[in-house]
Amino acid sequence: MSLVNRIARRSYRAVITGLNFQHTRQCPMCNWSGFQFHPANQGPFFKFDATCPRCKSQERHRLAYVLLAKRLPARLGKVLHFAPEPCMTKWLASLTDDYHTADLLLPTVMHKEDICNMSFADNTFDLVWCSHILEHVADDHKAMREIRRVLKPNGLAVIQVPVWGARTSDEPLNTPEERVLKYFQEDHVRRYGADIENRLRAADLALETLRLGDLDLHVVLRHGLSDLCGSDVFLTSKAVA
Ligand SMILES: [Zn+2]
Repeated sequence: MSLVNRIARRSYRAVITGLNFQHTRQCPMCNWSGFQFHPANQGPFFKFDATCPRCKSQERHRLAYVLLAKRLPARLGKVLHFAPEPCMTKWLASLTDDYHTADLLLPTVMHKEDICNMSFADNTFDLVWCSHILEHVADDHKAMREIRRVLKPNGLAVIQVPVWGARTSDEPLNTPEERVLKYFQEDHVRRYGADIENRLRAADLALETLRLGDLDLHVVLRHGLSDLCGSDVFLTSKAVA
């Protein structure tokens, strides 16, 4: 390589490194860093900065992690992770010696459970994790009541759903194309609005909404936390009925 080429290459590298183009993004869950998260399609949306190349976390996973990692107790008792996402499993399982997974359809879970009619006794779990499930469930009030029922009196339930606009829409849509367009996915039965908070309270869940907007912008950008389909995390507990 000629001297000119060597100088040109080193100068280029110095400029790129100086501008920090190479590591503008960092995954808080697996520590991957790079220029950008991978893009993804979600229903009618194309997202530019979505999936971690290493752990496959999406915006909502990273957001919940950033908002809750220092908020949850360092050690938890019995944990129920519904529809477990592999990128979340490692973290949630590390918080407890009593980690359980459940789903109605996934063959790899520990408990085959219908979230509207769970087999667990009342007051069983210290933490229930329920991310992007309720939008698939026809009777979401029943599911919320079941989450409440299996929570211990001081337990916490983390709930995330896609949210768009102010009001929930759950008119039946007859074709997969319509559901993708209006509810973002063909197996979604509704599109939640910000009024999901009223639904959670109606199920006697005490509610604290953790918002993306409460984070510094550079944290949001660096960790790729902003999701087109809603960016709030609902931290709920067993309100006294
Ligand atoms: Zn990652």
